[in-house]
Amino acid sequence: MARIRFRCDPAPKRLVSLLHKARGLIGLTMKTRLCVIGSGPAGHTAAIYAARAELKPILFEGWMANDVGPGGQYTTAPPIENFPGFPDGILGRELIDRCRNQALRFGTQIFTETVTKVDFSASPFKVFTDLRTVIADAVVVATGALVKRLSFPGSGDGPKGFWKRGMSACAVCDGAAPIFRNKPLAVIGGGDSAMEEAIYLTKYGSKVYIIHRRDTFKASKIMQNRALSSPNIEVLWNSVVVEAYGEGERGVLGGLKVENVVSGEVSDLKVSGLFIAIGREPATKFLGGQLELDSDGYVVTKPGSTHTSVQGVFAAGEVQDKKYRQGITAAGTGCMAALDAEHYLQEIGSQEGKSD
Ligand code: NAP
Repeated sequence: MARIRFRCDPAPKRLVSLLHKARGLIGLTMKTRLCVIGSGPAGHTAAIYAARAELKPILFEGWMANDVGPGGQYTTAPPIENFPGFPDGILGRELIDRCRNQALRFGTQIFTETVTKVDFSASPFKVFTDLRTVIADAVVVATGALVKRLSFPGSGDGPKGFWKRGMSACAVCDGAAPIFRNKPLAVIGGGDSAMEEAIYLTKYGSKVYIIHRRDTFKASKIMQNRALSSPNIEVLWNSVVVEAYGEGERGVLGGLKVENVVSGEVSDLKVSGLFIAIGREPATKFLGGQLELDSDGYVVTKPGSTHTSVQGVFAAGEVQDKKYRQGITAAGTGCMAALDAEHYLQEIGSQEGKSD
């Protein structure tokens, strides 16, 4: 099956927005008993359960939200090998498509729009996109997390930086680009993502360096072993990148200054690609501080449930889970959120059409 690439420049986003505006759709207000924000395994599972409970949920799947297409992180992942039920693995994109179809089948209304802000100050709650406002008796927040970036000279998107001109946070999205073919490449990080990115990049690069700040990996043993047994991967332990520089007049990445944090020595590493894989941060900015967050920005939920600090607002998936962060655990909490929401809606006597 051909893979669909959703990552793209912001231009199409603006175009779609203009098209919608031109159609006079702006300012549309809709009412629902349950609004789900997010379209990864958590959001779709919440929608499937809610739809089967006849709550007729509305789900916002986002449009290039945080630079990733509808479906979130899974859409850029290599084949998923640990999601139960798929012994031969499944492409993340395909898994999400299946979840989406299942949510649609039971009556979920899906909008390919990004939620820009919410108003949780009073029930019913308000959920805003550029095109519409949804008034909802209950909300499930399932917006996941986005990749973290590093800051050092040459790491930015501006004229002096090499972001998207040799630097990336997604090997699956960008690794096949001609500028990386048969060139030395580097990955920063020591977790499963870094191992995965490095292994993937061996398909394209002449050699892949993993630059890790410590002398042991955080990654699972199976992923470590896969990376360490590859003849094309070399690990630079106890090392951090302190600068990225360009090559010739092309304005693309030419190499890195790498510091050994034990000896303090700075060495030169000629690479044409640098992939940052140092973990993720929760996508909670649009909440505008209206839900309690922990010190790392994750939504706080009542232990053993998906209840947040606002009654009637529930959180599922990675946006509230910094420990497990797996697709299958996200799906599990999505199910919990729908059941918690259904119970809440019964308690407040919410009925179809009653919030009109
Ligand atoms: P992670 O497990 O949090 O690992 C992040 C890595 O980046 C760590 O090694 C960390 O170093 C390093 N790091 C963090 N901040 C850094 C900085 N400022 N400078 C340099 N290095 C830095 O993140 P992840 O690898 O993205 O994985 C996230 C979750 O997804 C995990 O639960 C993982 O198991 C899961 N995942 C699973 C798979 C799979 O099963 N195939 C694939 C990808 C991800 P330290 O080690 O020093 O902390």
